[in-house]
Amino acid sequence: MTTTRFAPSPTGFIHVGNLRTALFNYLITRKAGGTFILRIDDTDPERSKEEYVDAIKEDLEWLGLTWDRVERQSDRLERYAEVADQLREMGKFYEAWETPTELDLKRKKQLNMGKPPVYDRAALNLTDDQKTALRADRGNGVWRYKLDQTRITWEDMILKDMSIDAASVSDPVLIRQDGQVLYTLASICDDTDMGVTHVVRGSDHVTNTATQIQMIEAIGGTVPTFAHHSLLTGPQGEALSKRLGTLALRDLRDQGVQPMALLSLMARVGSSEPVELRTSMDELVDGFDISKFGAAPTKFDVQDVFPLTARHLQSLPLDAVADHVSALGISDDQAAAFWTVTRDNITTLADLKGWADLIRNGADPVVDAEDADFVAEAMAMLPDGPFDDETWGSWTKEVKAATGRKGRGLFMPLRKALTGMDHGPDMGKLLPLLQNIRR
Ligand code: GLU
Repeated sequence: MTTTRFAPSPTGFIHVGNLRTALFNYLITRKAGGTFILRIDDTDPERSKEEYVDAIKEDLEWLGLTWDRVERQSDRLERYAEVADQLREMGKFYEAWETPTELDLKRKKQLNMGKPPVYDRAALNLTDDQKTALRADRGNGVWRYKLDQTRITWEDMILKDMSIDAASVSDPVLIRQDGQVLYTLASICDDTDMGVTHVVRGSDHVTNTATQIQMIEAIGGTVPTFAHHSLLTGPQGEALSKRLGTLALRDLRDQGVQPMALLSLMARVGSSEPVELRTSMDELVDGFDISKFGAAPTKFDVQDVFPLTARHLQSLPLDAVADHVSALGISDDQAAAFWTVTRDNITTLADLKGWADLIRNGADPVVDAEDADFVAEAMAMLPDGPFDDETWGSWTKEVKAATGRKGRGLFMPLRKALTGMDHGPDMGKLLPLLQNIRR
């Protein structure tokens, strides 16, 4: 049975980068059958906020990324304390008292000497007396995990053969001075206790993975299969990390992005397969193959989601948008015609409002000076409503006969006079919907 988890920290709104992680874990699970856990990584009580937990759930629900179970790290603090004790007994844990400034100084010295800035394990050499003195002076220390300085290898589903020398990595701090358990400890306990079989996350976690593999083995867990997807960059390859805040899922939703459009894009961008619009989650699951993703940073342009949104809307029947259409004041008997006429002329549902306004209120005519006489003559020939499917054809035929105009010179001025715009739906279909013509 496949078990995956999406493990956001509720310290902000989730964005497209997080979505990539959530989606890959979700699709792997749905493809294989199994359990997709939403794990709230809220071990940091200062930065974690309940409103973000709610927002994360709402965003995932909007996208249809349903989870089978929710776990919260803040509910499991006792378990983490137990595992910490176990690691202490095993001699895998040691207390260290260096201040951030002291550590910084050490790092600078190492870098100056051309050495990698790895924690020097000075705390391992402290005598009991020294420890007592430090504790009296500085209070509790942090607890570091004593890595086995061996080479750690794994077969990554995306990065393939991975190998990291543990000696090049600092012994990770798992418990802070104030006793707060850090993500790494919580995460290895959870992944072990919850039987997580696959961990997909960003490539910024590669070093964490190396150390976590050792820790999971130390506590007797089964090491999951890992996949590290590349990080997103902007369209020119520029770092996106600072701009991710502007790519929050809820902002995209507010801009009218359709979930399937966004999911279709995120399930393919960065893979060797083309982005294709999928209209259902099942199709998305079928077409997903994590091995097709590459290690190189993935260029991402949020603008790409808009044409996909437009195409998705074009494929939808009225049923799917009926509430939206009726909220715009379009009557039930006009709704089907309204949707058929407008759906090819919108990018997002928000654009429907403009068409609804036009239909209900009409538009100020736009008439170019050289067309003024022609338009006046034509409008005088326009019968009173209501109009039907034939009106546009018969009217423009008469206008053509009377004025001698044809083609674009005939149709465009009439479109602009009736809609105030030089583009839009087929006039033959739009005219019968117009309830108010400003002559
Ligand atoms: N809370 C961690 C993060 O958002 C989870 C990383 C992981 O998947 O283990 O980076």
